[in-house]
Amino acid sequence: NNIEEPTVVTEKGSNGFLMEYEGAEILCEYGLPVAKSKLARTEEEAIELANTIGYPIVLKGMSRDIVHKTEAGIVKVNITNQTQLIKSFNEVLTNASNYNSEAKMAGVLVQEMASKGIELIIGIKKDPIFGHQLVIGFGGTLVEIMKDFSMRMMPVSKEDIAEMIKELKSYPIIEGYRGQQGINKQKLIDICLGLNNLVAERPEIEELDLNPIMFSGNEAAICDVRILVG
Ligand code: ADP
Ligand code: MG
Repeated sequence: NNIEEPTVVTEKGSNGFLMEYEGAEILCEYGLPVAKSKLARTEEEAIELANTIGYPIVLKGMSRDIVHKTEAGIVKVNITNQTQLIKSFNEVLTNASNYNSEAKMAGVLVQEMASKGIELIIGIKKDPIFGHQLVIGFGGTLVEIMKDFSMRMMPVSKEDIAEMIKELKSYPIIEGYRGQQGINKQKLIDICLGLNNLVAERPEIEELDLNPIMFSGNEAAICDVRILVG
């Protein structure tokens, strides 16, 4: 395979995007709950990491040259054993080079598989006049049809966040209804407050997308990070 040398974290690609694992490292610095993950550069490393993290796991190809991973066929979820892991590892590399034969691979991310639950999206965009804007949206497969999101200028307060989720059509789901558990709101608040600090200290961030954040039981896990640096 064609895995390149380790790269410097926060060195943006020519498209301006950081790779997921670089974004995840930044979020970790601000105490945000990212799904446990580590970059593997060989099949053997992937096997070791999967054993440490524990099955089921997710594999994702990491390349500066590929921004949308699903589209490239380089996200493999719910891998439950070593045989599947090896097969998926090689499929990720093959699919990446079929998608973009020029794509340089930094490695394959071995990631903890988050439990299914309520999926939220958080987005940040920097407006040239108003500065960073925070969007909270309801995620999942219906996201495009539902167009369910609310927006505030950053920094957001605890009260802003409470209002933002109340504005969503999906609020009853987020609150929990008919015996279904809602999300742990404190976790959502902590994520947003962490993001306040992050953009305050890193104004060069033009866009940031957490899609999805999985809420299940009392937990929250950020399963994808896309950061655009200006
Ligand atoms: P993309 O670059 O296509 O947005 P993602 O990293 O978001 O790639 O992965 C695609 C989809 O796979 C996610 O929307 C989510 O449904 C699922 N997924 C990704 N990572 C995890 C994970 N750690 N646990 C559970 N599901 C995941
Ligand atoms: Mg995503």
